[in-house]
Amino acid sequence: MSALQAPKGTYDMLPDAAERRDGIVRTAARVFAAHGYRRIVTPEFEDTALFERGVGEATDIVRKEMYTFADKGDRLLTLRPEGTAPVCRAYVEHGLHKLPQPVKLWYHAPMFRYEKPQSGRYREHYQLGVEALGSPEPTVDVEVIAVLAAIFAELGIADLRLAVNSMGDRACRPAYVALLRDYLRGREQELCGDCRERLELNPLRTFDCKVETCRAVLDEAPRIVDHLCDDCRDHFDRVLGLLASLDLQPEVDYRLVRGLDYYTRTTFEFSCDRLGAQSGVGGGGRYDGLVEQIGGPPTPGVGWGSGLERITLAMGDASPAPYRVDAYVACFDDAARDRAFLLAESVRRECPAAVELDLLGRSPKGQLKQASRLGAAAVVFVGLSELPADMVRVRLLGSGEELDVPADGAAAWLCERLERGL
Ligand SMILES: [Zn+2]
Ligand SMILES: [Zn+2]
Repeated sequence: MSALQAPKGTYDMLPDAAERRDGIVRTAARVFAAHGYRRIVTPEFEDTALFERGVGEATDIVRKEMYTFADKGDRLLTLRPEGTAPVCRAYVEHGLHKLPQPVKLWYHAPMFRYEKPQSGRYREHYQLGVEALGSPEPTVDVEVIAVLAAIFAELGIADLRLAVNSMGDRACRPAYVALLRDYLRGREQELCGDCRERLELNPLRTFDCKVETCRAVLDEAPRIVDHLCDDCRDHFDRVLGLLASLDLQPEVDYRLVRGLDYYTRTTFEFSCDRLGAQSGVGGGGRYDGLVEQIGGPPTPGVGWGSGLERITLAMGDASPAPYRVDAYVACFDDAARDRAFLLAESVRRECPAAVELDLLGRSPKGQLKQASRLGAAAVVFVGLSELPADMVRVRLLGSGEELDVPADGAAAWLCERLERGL
């Protein structure tokens, strides 16, 4: 029988990678806290209908990429493919619209999409995200962007570009979409089959097309930023002005559109040149129609998502700090093994030190080698023949100093020395 492997498009995080990941999330959590965002955790699966309504039945995500199944009670459920719809669902379900607005939330969670695995893209991938619900102010758009920029800065990610666009709103977008459709119909012969379909269903989605001839046609297409109503224009100008004041150097990118009705006004994306073709490291936008779309009261909202795999790639190959322990308990006498174990456990209870001990019955030499491999600052010897049974010897590896201390006070003594830096 062949050995089993992790499913296609998933990955294991071994301890070095998991610790690096934890560090990224801790850094992000500090930035979130500084900006007043609080963590929310929603279920790994939801009713399929939430994503059909909250992501859009016409999207690739809903049509092709969801992990959907019926449970034993014949409920149609889907593993969460994205974070925004579940957060909006929770916002409505728990009446968060009655709290002082905006409600500012962040999440760190796995997302599931059945797509072709490629560099930094997985079928189960982890995402950081924020959603700020309840304020239409352009300052909130800029705040969420500033939060993401601050996380990247804290993580030392450089070479970033920030693209922004405005999608207009219900007042001005329909006229623009009609204008775009007319323009594309005039050049339909130059479009790929997909884009000819999109041109009827949702012409905005032609901006996503990677086909060269389509891109050439769209380069000359009318741009939505030239067709905004006064309110949308004012909103966009304030966003651009504030981003510039924060030195975030926004570049207006007319291709940055989201083809769903509930996206409004600001869209944005950070990309990192060192990542090559798939250079996006995080993006989002304003979705003033979404909460209403999933059955809540009309509620403005803006947010972003950023894949942790992409963040890790953008950070480059930082070699992880080696795993270290503070103290190692060595035992050179089989009869004293339980005492050694209990001493290690009492140090762990006494202070937040990392303590390891021999759990394999290694030779004395093997134990010392293991202690130095683990970078222990102190080794405690239990069961030395030259000492009375109620005494242990502590060797401080930095100075080479050795002291004999009573076994029952050893934990407190060691913790006190570790606290002082030995
Ligand atoms: Zn096309
Ligand atoms: Zn408008």
